[in-house]
Amino acid sequence: MISIAIDGPAGAGKSTIAKEISKILGFVYVDTGALYRAIGLYIERHNIEDREIKKELSKVKIDLDFKKDGQHVLLCGEDVSKLIRTPKISMIASRISAFKCVRDFLLKLQRDFAENNNVVMDGRDIGTVVLPDAEIKIFLTASAAIRAERRYNELRAKNIYCSYDEVLNDIIKRDNDDSSREIAPLKPARSAIIIDTSNMSLQESIKFLLKVVKSKFDRGSDLYESK
Ligand code: C5P
Repeated sequence: MISIAIDGPAGAGKSTIAKEISKILGFVYVDTGALYRAIGLYIERHNIEDREIKKELSKVKIDLDFKKDGQHVLLCGEDVSKLIRTPKISMIASRISAFKCVRDFLLKLQRDFAENNNVVMDGRDIGTVVLPDAEIKIFLTASAAIRAERRYNELRAKNIYCSYDEVLNDIIKRDNDDSSREIAPLKPARSAIIIDTSNMSLQESIKFLLKVVKSKFDRGSDLYESK
């Protein structure tokens, strides 16, 4: 199986770009942030205190369902794909993602997918921890202001209203928390190709990444054959 790991901070465009690339390559796109968000939603719904998370995780069942419109996240059988997209759940997910028990809980799930499918997997620690042997590792980034603007527009398009400043502050806080946590912090893998998309449009970013992927795989022949 072939794995492409795409890591980077919130709002760098990872999911949109990874989704497009996986479609073109015929790979499965796995958005690992959604897994942390699903646990965040569970914790919020059940008012779970931090010291109880480890014990409570034994009751949590998370599955991924891949439909025509992409990945759906099932939390104890319920499709929560939309419910996990709020700013509140972003912040809870980021906070609880620093806990070892949460990361351990999700590690196997992520690795199992990559073992059984050709994947484009996006997250924060895919190239460094989850799939250290991934054939291609990309670290996608952009300035905080640009990322906040993209996130803000995305949320508005989904009729989720909040101010630009709120989104920017959340992004800066999550960047800091994600990069400074002790376990699996956000950082480029040693062999990662770092791509800054601040001055690229979405289409330019996709084109650029595809070029990188193709050149890495001997002009792409292996990838296209494995479709
Ligand atoms: O990617 P997304 O913004 O949906 O991720 C939500 C949160 O989950 C992130 O802020 C990050 O703290 C956490 N996360 C993580 N490791 C991953 C994916 C997401 O710690 N592989």
